[in-house]
Amino acid sequence: MAEDIQLEIVTPERYAVSESVQIVMAPGTLGEFGVLSGHTPFLTSLQIGKVHYKDSSGKEQVVFVSGGFAEALPDRVTILAESAERQEDIDYSRAKAAYERAQERLASQKEDIDYARARASMQRAFARMDVSQGGGTH
Ligand code: ATP
Repeated sequence: MAEDIQLEIVTPERYAVSESVQIVMAPGTLGEFGVLSGHTPFLTSLQIGKVHYKDSSGKEQVVFVSGGFAEALPDRVTILAESAERQEDIDYSRAKAAYERAQERLASQKEDIDYARARASMQRAFARMDVSQGGGTH
């Protein structure tokens, strides 16, 4: 069996994850990618979405990330994100309220709407609601 790798998910405020894991799947801007121990080094930007990983006991875990960057080394994956939350950190009602706010903004015909900002807010809220409900299977 492959060796474990060290996963670090870091925000400006804290370490959201720092643990030894079996595999990491992350939402790269060019598509989702997986990293196992011994992977060729690479650097990529991330989309808003979910990082899935298998912890050292083989249990599936999911973490919300608001985009950012990932560096994969043979024994380590480091993710730097503006925000990252585990399922239990997410306030579902807050995410739902953010989703509805963004949806209203996108639906309004006002000229001063920043569509890219509203869309990104909606994507964050949608991914948070998803992770809060278990993040789907992988
Ligand atoms: P909101 O409009 O609800 O603030 P947002 O998408 O603008 O949502 P962010 O800018 O991504 O929020 O995050 C700001 C801070 O609030 C971060 O520290 C983030 O971890 C935290 N945060 C945002 N939404 C939630 C949530 N639903 N549950 C828990 N923490 C959250």
